[in-house]
Amino acid sequence: MFHKILKVIVPLSLLLLQACSDNSDISSTEQENTNAGTTESSKTYFTDEGYEIGQCQPVFYGLKIFVPEENAFYICANNNRWIKVRVNDDYEEPASSSSTWVEEFPVDSVHIIIDTLPYSSSSAVCDLYWNSDYDDYIYAYPNDKANNDSASHRLADGGVFLNILQGGSYSVRFQKGSDTIAPELSLYHYSTYTTTIQAQDSIDYWYFPINAENLKSSDFYKTRLHNKDCSFYKEPTKGFLFEGSGKYSSHFNINLIVIGKYMGTSDKASETTLAETIKARMNEALNNGGVFVDKITVLHAHEHELHGQMFPEDSAYVLPYGRVFANYSLLEKWNGHENALNLMLGYYIDRPNILGFAPRFGGHLDASIPNYSYVVLGTHNRVTGKPTAQSSNDIAETAVHEAGHFLGLRHTSSSKNDMEGDLDKSNVEDGLEDTPYCAKVNTSENIDNCPDRRNIIFPYSSDKTERTYSGEQVEQIRKNLTLMVH
Ligand SMILES: [Zn+2]
Repeated sequence: MFHKILKVIVPLSLLLLQACSDNSDISSTEQENTNAGTTESSKTYFTDEGYEIGQCQPVFYGLKIFVPEENAFYICANNNRWIKVRVNDDYEEPASSSSTWVEEFPVDSVHIIIDTLPYSSSSAVCDLYWNSDYDDYIYAYPNDKANNDSASHRLADGGVFLNILQGGSYSVRFQKGSDTIAPELSLYHYSTYTTTIQAQDSIDYWYFPINAENLKSSDFYKTRLHNKDCSFYKEPTKGFLFEGSGKYSSHFNINLIVIGKYMGTSDKASETTLAETIKARMNEALNNGGVFVDKITVLHAHEHELHGQMFPEDSAYVLPYGRVFANYSLLEKWNGHENALNLMLGYYIDRPNILGFAPRFGGHLDASIPNYSYVVLGTHNRVTGKPTAQSSNDIAETAVHEAGHFLGLRHTSSSKNDMEGDLDKSNVEDGLEDTPYCAKVNTSENIDNCPDRRNIIFPYSSDKTERTYSGEQVEQIRKNLTLMVH
């Protein structure tokens, strides 16, 4: 018999509410302005290592100069500004050259850090503008390929909150219309002005590199898209895409944190066996796609240095559903096991048929800022009456699904629950080319024939015979992982 078991996440809005209200150092945020240090347009430019690359003038727009000694390209952008694009040591210069450099050197093809150099065009500092026509906030998360039509629409005057982690290299882009004058993108941290970025031109879209290496905090940054005189950009903005990649490893560790008494599995697996099953299943799902779990460590909540006494080892721990009001965050930091993906394991989740939950976006691995960043799993499931033990394989399957969410994956098709939690009603699926979409998931129709029902990130547990994330899912995980401190 087909059992439809929900695996849901805490509504996105709940997470965001917390993420936004939890910042305690708003007032101490320093202003940054990467426009500082402008130079005369006629001045020739010398690179970091002292190579003279001359002036960036209209006649040189699109010119690329490769400086092997610095593992970097210098590109003359259409605002008289040299952009430095650093590439990996093993990067080989392409044989052909093209003026559409963004396509030739896509930010995700190699690990690239974009440094902005002083440039000549001056830019006004525009006031942060709150459009009272909008009473809701639109958020964007790196490497999310869903439609995000609302983000496209709001980029200018409504503003979109971009989730930016310190140290990463990001970009925002959208399709060009008939406009020929490059807009500017200003980012604000709460009421503090942060930076203005000039649009880079390519054939099809306006492109804004965002260098977060020197940002003071990982947080949400609000956009304002405008012209040089600060008037709002009026052209239609379509095809919004927010991407990012960082410098951190694509290998990571997992902590399996057993809370309370370990209640066992239906196949009598020990904690260690369950942990190894989860690790093996994760690595199988990642399918040699460039992301690897190196180590899994079993930790016991009652042995936690600071909060152990709150979680006695001799009583089963029923897991509260939801993160904000639970005690899980007390168990996020473990000396010697920092910056790993924390899986909180208890008896059962106190909501029928919920096998696990995790933040879909906005998670991180940084133990220094505990902030509801973990996956919660039960060894048992309870509908009514006595809880039922699950097998170690089923628990591992749920761990793989929830870890996928934690690392940024949407459900292949959005469930009713997802749609209620997402303010952007265009996000009916994950936007990935290699995962099919099933409209029935959002209705009460039978989902047995959904083409994506075999994918690990299908919202319901059904015949998930695909053992691996899809290629694009792994790539999305990889990019997000490189943004997370670990
Ligand atoms: Zn899910």
